[in-house]
Amino acid sequence: MSTPEESPLHFETQCIHGGVHKDQQYNSVTTPIYPTSTFYWNSLESNSGYDYTRSSNPTRKALEENITALEGGVGCVATSTGMSAVHCAMALFSPGDHIVAPADLYGGTFRLFDKFLQEKGISFTFVDMTDLGKVAAAFTPATRGVWIETPSNPLLKVIDLAGVVQLARKHNAITICDNTFLSPYLQRPLDFGVDIVMHSTTKYINGHSDVVGGCVVSKSPEHAKQIAWICNALGLACSPFDAWLVLRGVKTLGCRMDAQQSNAMKIARFLEAHPLIERVYYPGLETHPQHELAKTQQRGFGAMLSFDTKDGRSVAERVCMNTRLFDVAESLGGIESLISFPVTMSHASMTPEARAAAGISEKTVRVSVGLEHSEDLIADLKQALG
Ligand SMILES: *Cc1c(COP(=O)(O)O)cnc(C)c1O
Repeated sequence: MSTPEESPLHFETQCIHGGVHKDQQYNSVTTPIYPTSTFYWNSLESNSGYDYTRSSNPTRKALEENITALEGGVGCVATSTGMSAVHCAMALFSPGDHIVAPADLYGGTFRLFDKFLQEKGISFTFVDMTDLGKVAAAFTPATRGVWIETPSNPLLKVIDLAGVVQLARKHNAITICDNTFLSPYLQRPLDFGVDIVMHSTTKYINGHSDVVGGCVVSKSPEHAKQIAWICNALGLACSPFDAWLVLRGVKTLGCRMDAQQSNAMKIARFLEAHPLIERVYYPGLETHPQHELAKTQQRGFGAMLSFDTKDGRSVAERVCMNTRLFDVAESLGGIESLISFPVTMSHASMTPEARAAAGISEKTVRVSVGLEHSEDLIADLKQALG
């Protein structure tokens, strides 16, 4: 498909048309799955452009083209999981390098940084990145990178992308942003000067809770080349079948996000007004500390929210266990609503002190709002709260 230079296609159109029309033999409308490990050569000098699926595969390439366009990058690798995407991006660094990262980081990323990469000689300083002063103070002469995750999990703190990029550039450090919580439909970090974006495509990009995957998108050709080299060398790429599933899911990203965040806003308002709820964490609420910042760098507020109940754990536990439409489960970003209790689930690996410092308590409940009708979801939460 050719795109006229002078009129870039809208996001929703790119979701559907990116990486399709690959089958010139039978003209299939969708991208075929190429479940092959290897590709035969036409002569000892030439092949189809593909030789071995760890290095490259047409189905995966189609997904990579699609996501590159959605994030506004120049290159992308599609990986087996979100964690392999994190690992892929972090392989840009060497022993002796120092990285600044947010204190309330996705648990799996924190484990990789703190327990694995730290042992390999990369050092980290974890700071509250909503405070740019603290970010500025965390740089050392060895700082080579800044990891950003915004909004954060589970308390939806919003980090100033342009502000962090400015500080990183001053110190010659590259910026990498985990954009999983919003997807490129609602936030495009590369537009704010971030160098590399990664996703767990398990979440909104695929959106149907039926595959795990990840991706790393680069803004510069140099980074794109390095990342592709690392992905092949470490063997991190996803299977053709998984790439096909994600490519199928991403086609509806825009309308899923619209509907899910509209539900999230209604649920946030309902919870805000409920007598058993102490506090709601959702960047769409005027009371959210970074509501104004979110408006400047996000196209919407997303479909993740958390809340603190009154009366401690009992109400939190009651709402989790009594809902009928929200499955109690980890993960997020699918079309079905999920509810979770960070203390024993997503944030169980943090020490109680670290959780307390991050503001996560036994009163905190996290919700991934799905595509069901908002009235059914609200009625369900109402009966569960009792
Ligand atoms: C889920 C998640 C990851 C890890 O992705 P997997 O696909 O589970 O490996 C990384 N970052 C964020 C923000 C996530 O939500």
